[in-house]
Amino acid sequence: MADVIASARAEGRTLLTEVESKQLLADAGIPVAMAQLATTAGEAVRIADDLGYPVVMKVVSPDIAHKSDVGGVVVNLADAEALQAAHGEMMARVQEAAPNASILGVAVQSMAPQGAEVIVGATTDPQFGPVMMFGLGGVFVEVLKDVAFRIVPLEPRDARQMVREIKGLPILQGVRGQAPADLEALEALILQVSAFMAAHPEVAELDLNPVFAYEEGVLAVDARVVLAEPVGADDVSGVEVSA
Ligand code: ADP
Ligand code: MG
Repeated sequence: MADVIASARAEGRTLLTEVESKQLLADAGIPVAMAQLATTAGEAVRIADDLGYPVVMKVVSPDIAHKSDVGGVVVNLADAEALQAAHGEMMARVQEAAPNASILGVAVQSMAPQGAEVIVGATTDPQFGPVMMFGLGGVFVEVLKDVAFRIVPLEPRDARQMVREIKGLPILQGVRGQAPADLEALEALILQVSAFMAAHPEVAELDLNPVFAYEEGVLAVDARVVLAEPVGADDVSGVEVSA
């Protein structure tokens, strides 16, 4: 397994692609929807044929952090024909929206069944170091700021509290006849990400957005890892100082 952190460093990148991020996280035992890089439409079809349909196709670029913003995500592709057609359309859309981005290809992955959407993330605070974040997806985080934070490393009790202190908890517990989400699996995921951040001081930011929470188990369908800026000669960053 190639060292994705080392290769990103060698290329002077801090943003890992979704494919790289998921490789890194899967190695740490974190449940992710594995994504494979295809550099051509033909290769995308071969991967999808192997996986089985439906699949999801996303643009892969070290210059694009938010793929949907540039039309770079297509879900629920039912067969090779649909994938082939969507590939050309997506490339055209992305090139129009982000003309200067270098495009490495597309990521192909199985379409995961819909679950309750949550976000598990980590950032680095200049004073406290890595900090974990948990919330429900979409407007709950962006508009209502309904999120819980804890400083890494977390104890099991911290993860338990985080999941239960958000105002949106009833949504996870099952509303309108929906099955409740697997809170224990969410807690386990939060603890795994906390351990990952503690073990990787070179990771500045991590976003699993969204994670699908099911009645049994959880699955991160998107992942974004951002490395800390390398400490350059003329760049006095706080990274070394605070340790
Ligand atoms: P972005 O870079 O815009 O955040 P995402 O990878 O999060 O892109 O994809 C956008 C949306 O597509 C997700 O919020 C999710 O609803 C859906 N999606 C992404 N990957 C999958 C997947 N493997 N299975 C099912 N739905 C997915
Ligand atoms: Mg996302």
